[in-house]
Amino acid sequence: MIGLVAATAAGRRGCERLATAWPGRTRTYEGPVSRSIGAAFRECDQLVVFLATGATVRLLAPLLADKATDPGVVTVDEAHRHAVALLGGHAGGANDLAEAVSAELGSAPVVTTATDAVALSALDGLPCPAEGAVAAVTRALLDGDPVLLRAAPAWPLPALPARPWPDTDEDPGLPAVWVTDRVEPPREATVFVRPPSLVVGVGASSGVTAGEVLGLVRGTLRDARLAEASVTALATVDAKASEAGIVEAAAELDVELVTFAAPDLARIPVPNPSAAPLRAVGTPSVAEAAALLAAGHSAAAPAQDAGTGPAPELVVSKRKSAMATVAVARRRPRGRLAVVGLGPGARDLLTPRATAELRRASVVVGLDQYVTQIRDLLRPGTRVLESGLGAEEERARTAVAEARAGHAVALIGSGDAGVYAMASPALAEAADDIDVVGVPGVTAALAAAALLGAPLGHDHVSVSLSDLHTPWEVIERRVRAAAESDLVVTFYNPRSRGRDWQLPKALAILAEHRTPGTPVGVVHAASRPDERAEVTTLAALDVTTVDMVTVVTVGNTATRTVAGRMVTPRGYRWQA
Ligand code: SAH
Repeated sequence: MIGLVAATAAGRRGCERLATAWPGRTRTYEGPVSRSIGAAFRECDQLVVFLATGATVRLLAPLLADKATDPGVVTVDEAHRHAVALLGGHAGGANDLAEAVSAELGSAPVVTTATDAVALSALDGLPCPAEGAVAAVTRALLDGDPVLLRAAPAWPLPALPARPWPDTDEDPGLPAVWVTDRVEPPREATVFVRPPSLVVGVGASSGVTAGEVLGLVRGTLRDARLAEASVTALATVDAKASEAGIVEAAAELDVELVTFAAPDLARIPVPNPSAAPLRAVGTPSVAEAAALLAAGHSAAAPAQDAGTGPAPELVVSKRKSAMATVAVARRRPRGRLAVVGLGPGARDLLTPRATAELRRASVVVGLDQYVTQIRDLLRPGTRVLESGLGAEEERARTAVAEARAGHAVALIGSGDAGVYAMASPALAEAADDIDVVGVPGVTAALAAAALLGAPLGHDHVSVSLSDLHTPWEVIERRVRAAAESDLVVTFYNPRSRGRDWQLPKALAILAEHRTPGTPVGVVHAASRPDERAEVTTLAALDVTTVDMVTVVTVGNTATRTVAGRMVTPRGYRWQA
């Protein structure tokens, strides 16, 4: 719940706007602020206080306890100009809240935590829990001191400016970020990042208490020296889906409870099958089989690879208490491939989601000129694998191989990465052993259309005139079909020094079905410093103005030029 506190009429208006924007998520505190702020601080996870920062500091100071548990606090000034992340920037979510408040109120977010200011991955803001000397290691990273990254196997974490160990001859006693689900003996200046690698399988007799399940789970993890923070789920058989002791234990551990049908569990080979669960629920193993299945064991091709990733491993085989059994399986890391469209060039046409994925990655793969476009957004420590024009296959293969090795990879492309670009060669290589995330980008046809007017108001196609990978007959057939079916056409890759007859040929085919006065838009370098847009006609187009950084959009028989802009009517009966 987000507590909203205000002292003035302007503040109350701000509260109302946030309450309307976020229904069900806010609670507004009325009355004297000195009292309401305290109540909000005790009762809410986050606070937005419409009050000067100084006044807020004085009122909250006596209530502060611990940054891990205190709510995140954002203050907003009287004119709603700034939303200041005052307390709990990471753990309390105040940095994100300041952004969200600003999006609603039109204020500017003010974020002062050091790691955000220098675009470092905050160790307490990683997608996995971090334990240990977070402050000391963050300091070392910020100061540029050597820090080791011990991560074998690799998990798809954002980049850190740390040196991979043991592939470096640095002193192993240096400050370290250690990605592991094992509880290692305490080490000075070490942060343990807990990957989401463990699943605990649980079997139980009816009526088992949560205390017994929890005792067995925690005792088992302790004896095996495994970190509770790496446990992502309890797993059991469908018949135990509402067994109170298991349900409550999952809630107490703050993990998901996943359940499987008995026949699916029965198919999983396990070291310790037994007759009792077979009689009771129809599978010779609950704890071991459910742990393995939840950790990604493929029932289709048991005991091996399933052709994709390595199978999970049983790290603790079945252990029992009076009424419960548990076993622990370890999931193999799955790498992450984000296929990210950067838009046509201008920074403000790069989507926030694309920016987030670039900052989520530890490896960026792309054409050198695109990497240059976004290099400033990458986190320190990001590995950049750039290559020149023409190395498409190799780039696609590299991106997939890096993801398969467990990394978080961003494969970048201009416009939309799926339009005449890297997404298809990459996904044609990828098996289902990696996670794939696509981020759409503003493709050249759309960037150009916005400059030309409204040329794409009715049905339209894109045709690439590059016959490098496509026989010209195929291209010509498609242009002819577009001509006959009166589609608006945008030509990508229209003309280069060595490829100059294709565009005139394509335009001639269109001209067989359209008048010489049909509007044509030529857009060079949309949204880039040398941008040029021109509306002309089929008859008047000078093809020598067209190069490889240009798209050409040809209207249909209804497209008109209105006040110098290209307009294709919405429909045949729409505005007759
Ligand atoms: N994935 C890209 C297209 C790659 S094909 C996208 O979605 O936009 C390369 C062709 O795209 C170029 O030959 C040119 O025709 C077009 N193009 C790319 N960026 C452009 C821009 N900023 N302005 C005009 N055309 C562009």
